[in-house]
Amino acid sequence: MANHPKIAILGGAESGVGAARLAVLHGYEVFLSDRGQLKPTYREALTAAGVEFEEGQHTMERILAAEAVIKSPGIPNTAPAVVAIRDAGIQIISEIEFAYYYCKGQIIGVTGTNGKTTTVTLIHKLLKDAGLKVGLCGNVGNSFAGMLVDEPAHDWYVVEISSFQLDDVHRFRPHIAIITNIAENHLDRYDHDMSLYAAAKFNITRNQTEDDFFIYCQDSPVLMRELPRHPTLAQHCPYGFQRLSDTVSWITNLTIQVDMTNNKTLRKKLAPQAHTIETKALMSKHNQHNAMAASVVAQLLEIRKESVRQSFAEFQNVEHRLEAVRTLDGVSYINDSKATNVNSVWYALESQNQPAIWIMGGVDKGNDYGMLRELVGRKVKAIIILGTQNESKIREAFSATGKPILQADNMDLAVSTAHSLAETNEVVLLSPACASFDLYENYEARGRAFKDAVNGLSGVGLA
Ligand code: ADP
Repeated sequence: MANHPKIAILGGAESGVGAARLAVLHGYEVFLSDRGQLKPTYREALTAAGVEFEEGQHTMERILAAEAVIKSPGIPNTAPAVVAIRDAGIQIISEIEFAYYYCKGQIIGVTGTNGKTTTVTLIHKLLKDAGLKVGLCGNVGNSFAGMLVDEPAHDWYVVEISSFQLDDVHRFRPHIAIITNIAENHLDRYDHDMSLYAAAKFNITRNQTEDDFFIYCQDSPVLMRELPRHPTLAQHCPYGFQRLSDTVSWITNLTIQVDMTNNKTLRKKLAPQAHTIETKALMSKHNQHNAMAASVVAQLLEIRKESVRQSFAEFQNVEHRLEAVRTLDGVSYINDSKATNVNSVWYALESQNQPAIWIMGGVDKGNDYGMLRELVGRKVKAIIILGTQNESKIREAFSATGKPILQADNMDLAVSTAHSLAETNEVVLLSPACASFDLYENYEARGRAFKDAVNGLSGVGLA
């Protein structure tokens, strides 16, 4: 019997199962091991692909018999199995690294603390609407590896990549890399060291060459502070609200300007373009950033201005990201359940032009609420803390604003309280700054509970 190269996979969720299926397709002998229980759909997918797997344990001698191990991003480096694999000198790679080896199309990779899903969705739409053959994968929907198995080859792959996925890349080289921003998040996984967390994100540019492009937000202070420590050969394309010397995209009066002619590191000189933002979904500050990043991609790919305009006009916010749910008695209800850190809430509050009843709270990942205080003073009418986790920390953080602070044990109560406080031309905003695990399985379940509660309200006037 032919001797097949052996690959072991640690973790059997979306990326692990995708990697397993791709590895089988390319003739590897695959063994997948998960210390927990697999979801039935993943179990079925592995069985259908003929992948050998185990659950509830790691049989180390089988794992250590592999030539390489693909580690799921959720498993920390401190896990005993990971330590043993490294001690044995076996190479650990991430699923996107493995998928990269078999990808024949060009890659647009997007990472950052916030804005990844929105930005990849927008870029995917721009390319698709322009008639390009493009796939959307990574942390959104199908994994990169899974997509290579499930769909015929695309010319372009827009891949959403978390910093954990970038911990174990070696040769991964996107043609276009984007970092949307870097702010405090997940620091527990990086020894509470912001530079280590940032370094993982900059791995996205590590293997880029002079023919590639690196698009990044010049308005993110941490990103800009860390940038000089991570040199890359890629041509730099910074974007932001102001035009600095090398800026390739900026905004004037809600019009995105894209002009690469002044940028000294860019070899590609294309005619400047301008796109006016007309849609409500793109008006918020953070989506203006995301739209600038997407506009630079459109310019590099020479997508026609009319096509970009049309795509922007049709764009709807992704579910649970400043998603407009309903207007009732002149009050807008907005679901921003995905805002699980302080930075994304900052943008949510900043983009409100009407007084907000702010529903927030949940499991705190070491938040510093101080950076929100001034905005809360200006934009918020009342705060409703959902759940009791870190209630006292939140009260302490915002008591100086003088705003009423209420508490609700469940979503129905939070929404009905907000409803009774809100007056015409005000906003009820769910933007928690926290994870949801105290009351819900995930942020999607929390967002759906909010929408159900909002849709269940009856108004006094016209709905
Ligand atoms: P990610 O995939 O990185 O988590 P999302 O697009 O899902 O990003 O958005 C997560 C949260 O961050 C949402 O609350 C959204 O409104 C907010 N957000 C989106 N884009 C940005 C940005 N560029 N900067 C800061 N916050 C953002």
